[in-house]
Amino acid sequence: MMKDCIFCKIALGEIHTEFLYEDEYVVAFNDIHPVKPVHVLVIPKNHIAEFIAVEDTTLYQHLFTAVKKIVGEKELQTKGYRIIVNGGGAQDVDHLHVHIMGPVSPSNHE
Ligand code: 5GP
Ligand code: ZN
Repeated sequence: MMKDCIFCKIALGEIHTEFLYEDEYVVAFNDIHPVKPVHVLVIPKNHIAEFIAVEDTTLYQHLFTAVKKIVGEKELQTKGYRIIVNGGGAQDVDHLHVHIMGPVSPSNHE
């Protein structure tokens, strides 16, 4: 738990948020400002500042398992999806998160 981290609070249930997926490592929930009809974030339950700070590589398995489930549940496997991780200062929230967005078409990547 990192003090004043909004995603730590969401992961711990201190800010009530519906989870679309949860396991022992990660949770997934809707982005508060969706830029596509589907815009889901997958985050580690533990505070990890960003992608390059991951040490326990088991986390990769849990992150991508969650991504795959969300893509399937949202039926994006036939509609187009994007998976994005901002880091190195490009991120607004300093708690690792994977964006899943869709539907998207080729050359419609904004
Ligand atoms: P970043 O630019 O850090 O990659 O993206 C952060 C994302 O977190 C943004 O898409 C933003 O809308 C989302 N976000 C920020 N605060 C909250 C929040 O309190 N709840 C939810 N569900 N999403 C949030
Ligand atoms: Zn955090």
